Formats: sequence, C-alpha cells, structure tokens
Amino acid sequence: NTEDVKILLLENVNKSGQDILRKQGYQVEALTTSLPEDQLIEKIRDVQVIGIRSKTKLTDRVLAEAKNLLVIGCFCIGTNQVDLEYAARQGIAVFNSPFANSRSVAELVIAEIITLARQLGDRSNEMHRGTWNKVSAKCWEIRGKTLGIIGYGHIGSQLSVLAEAMGMKVIYYDVVTLMAMGTARQVPTLNDLLDEADFVTLHVPDLPETRNMMSTAQFDKMKHGAYLINASRGSVVDIPALIKAMNAGKIAGAALDVYPNEPAANGDYFNGSLNTWGDDLRQLHNIILTPHIGGSTEEAQRAIGIEVVGEALVRYINQGITVGSVNMPETQLRSLTLEEENTARVIYIHKNVPGVLRKVNEILGDHNVDKQISDSKGDVAYLMADISNVQVGEIKDLYERLEALSSRILTRVLY
Ligand code: NAD
Repeated sequence: NTEDVKILLLENVNKSGQDILRKQGYQVEALTTSLPEDQLIEKIRDVQVIGIRSKTKLTDRVLAEAKNLLVIGCFCIGTNQVDLEYAARQGIAVFNSPFANSRSVAELVIAEIITLARQLGDRSNEMHRGTWNKVSAKCWEIRGKTLGIIGYGHIGSQLSVLAEAMGMKVIYYDVVTLMAMGTARQVPTLNDLLDEADFVTLHVPDLPETRNMMSTAQFDKMKHGAYLINASRGSVVDIPALIKAMNAGKIAGAALDVYPNEPAANGDYFNGSLNTWGDDLRQLHNIILTPHIGGSTEEAQRAIGIEVVGEALVRYINQGITVGSVNMPETQLRSLTLEEENTARVIYIHKNVPGVLRKVNEILGDHNVDKQISDSKGDVAYLMADISNVQVGEIKDLYERLEALSSRILTRVLY
C-alpha cells in the first residue's frame, strides 16, 4: 500500500520532487538540514525511503540500522556520501541524478571563459574599490581561440556546442573515443590538448587517475598566457602548482568552482584551517573563485528533484524497476498493472551464488511465470518475475519460502 511507504527527505530536497512523492500517497517527512549521525540512525530505522543530498553520510554504520530501508535517492550528482557496496549487500538500491545540471555547469564555464579573457573580475573589483582602470592589454575576444575540453561527457559535450556557437575552435581529450559534436576534434593525448588550447577546462570525474591530473608538468606544457577552468572536482587540480604557474605569468587566469576539503556549510573557508594555500590563492589576479555553484540554478535543482524522484524512486518503489540505479543491476519488465487479478510481481535480491535460480523457480513454479528477468552486479543479483494464477492468500507463503532461502538478501512481492 502506498500509504504505508514512509519517506524521509533531508537537506531541503526540492519542492517539486517532494510533491511528486506526496501525490503517490506516501508519508513524506521533509527536513531542511542533514542530521547528526545519532539522530539519523534513530530516524532511518523507521523509513523505507531516504532522500539526501551531498552532506548526509550514509555509512555502513548508519545503513546497518536501516532495517526497513529499500531505496536511497541522492538528489545530486555524486554518490560518494553513500557506502554503495554495503547498501547493495543489504538489498538497498541507490539512485542519483547524473545529468540534470550539465547545462548549468556548461553555461557557467562559458561565462568564465569571457570573464577571464576580459579580466572582468579584476575590473569589477577595482571599481568596487573606487578605481577607474581602463585597460585593453592582454584582454582578448574569444572568437577563433581554442578551447581544450578534458573529459567529453555530459558537461564537456554540451560545452563544446556552446563554445563553437560563439566562434571558438574546440578540441577535447577523453580516455574513450567519443563522437565529436559539430566540428570539434578529439586529440589522442592530454599533452596534445595542452599544447594547442588557449583555454583548458576540466570535466572529468574524481578517480585515482584524475587526482592532480593538472600539476606542474601539465602547466609547463600549456601555452604561455593560457587559462585554466576547473568546475569538475577539487582533487583534479594541484592548487599550489597552479599558484606557482600563475605567479610566473605562465597561466593568465583561472576559474575554480571546486576545491579539496570543501566545507559542509556556508561560512568561513579560506580563513579556516582547511588548507594552507588559501591566502596565496586569494592574492592572485584574474582568478574567479566560486563556491561549487556550477550546478546551482533553479532549473537544475528542479530537474534533480523530478528526475530522481519521478522517474527512479517511484518506479522502484511501485514497480521494482532498477533502471538508473548506481549499485544494482539494471533490470526492467513492462509496467505492472496491479489491478490485474491474481497477478503479482516478485522481486528477489540475492547473493550472486550458483544454484539460486533453480531454487527460486521451484517456489515460483506452482504459478504461471509470465515473465522473468535476472541480472547481477558484483556480489549481488536482482531477480524480477511476474506471475499470474496466484491467489492473495498464497502470497504470504511464497514470500516466506523465498525469505527462507540462504541466498536471500531482500524479498518483495508487489500485488
Ligand atoms: P560524465 O561522466 O558524463 O563525463 C566524464 C567524462 O570524463 C567521460 O567521458 C569519461 O570518459 C571522461 N574521463 C574519465 N576519466 C578520464 C581521464 N582520466 N582523462 C580524460 N577523460 C576522462 O560526467 P559529467 O556529468 O560531464 O561531469 C563531469 C565532472 O563535473 C564530474 O566530476 C562531476 O562531478 C562534475 N560536476 C560538477 C558540478 C559543479 O557544480 N561544479 C556539477 C555537476 C558535475
């Protein structure tokens, strides 16, 4: 019953997302902040669904207490705040919203390219201090300049289209071969990109291979007077190396939206003890420093709510469909019509060990199995079967027999 589904939403999840869940008839409690771990544990015991953003840490310790939890919705891009493997082993699916803010980030980068090329930040700061300083030396149009995009995924490829529309040449480097948008061109190595680009912008994920991928050697490789933009992850740029390259005049300007050790709440950052380079960074000219706002637009926040909740959470709760899950195998059967009499959908999340299907099918075999699908990811497998010819009275027995199998992680029967 949808009224029995209890949902806890933390960190001020977007209103349109909340509305979609309420319309389904679920019981929704929405809080504006994250919770300290002990309060989180207290609350999570009770709910089937939790919606979070980036600040709520769902560690193994917290998830071990989440005895009723079926699904986690991350209303953001990243899922580092959740122990994904532990969740999967507990039968808890995790969804996120990977692409809702790609456009917002791409637009911010476009703004930054012009802002750096024209030294707008410095001119504006000077005027705020009361100084008229009209300059054209080392201020440029962006038309005809080369933009080098590192990581040509959702954001990188959007940006490619926007930059070409403004008359830039676009080259990109990616670890996989990807189709170019417009007349953009993929280059074989990072060094090829650094050799040629007037503006270098990073759009790669946070991976061991991307940590400090822009450091002294890479800045040395860049054109004299080139610009660097990082709105990807704080770990990707070696900030002390950037400070040196800018002080040496090698890099003419930079925009940083992301940093190592970002603070959990608004307030002091550079004044705190989170880094040793904050003061040096702030002294530099022509550097735009923004507090991780690449995806912070009304449009993106709304889209994140709708995409995660509308398409993924509701589908998972009501239908068991895992498409878009980051930690479960992606499985889908046609939409389930619960009104059809004597039919049920069985969802059996189990350890990925030999012999399970045989045992499950022995149990399901008394009924008519209309459709069945099964897939695995690592240690965990997900089986979905639509059965007909099953009476409501038989469902409890079916459920209990599946629950008694040693391979069982979690069983649901939707009817
Ligand atoms: P994506 O997964 O769609 O694209 C990433 C691309 O990087 C892929 O094409 C991948 O093949 C490539 N890649 C991976 N490792 C690489 C490597 N070592 N060298 C070169 N290319 C590599 O991701 P996306 O949605 O475009 O996001 C890109 C980055 O932007 C992510 O780090 C994401 O967290 C970040 N992001 C930041 C904000 C913000 O507010 N600033 C908002 C959204 C996303």
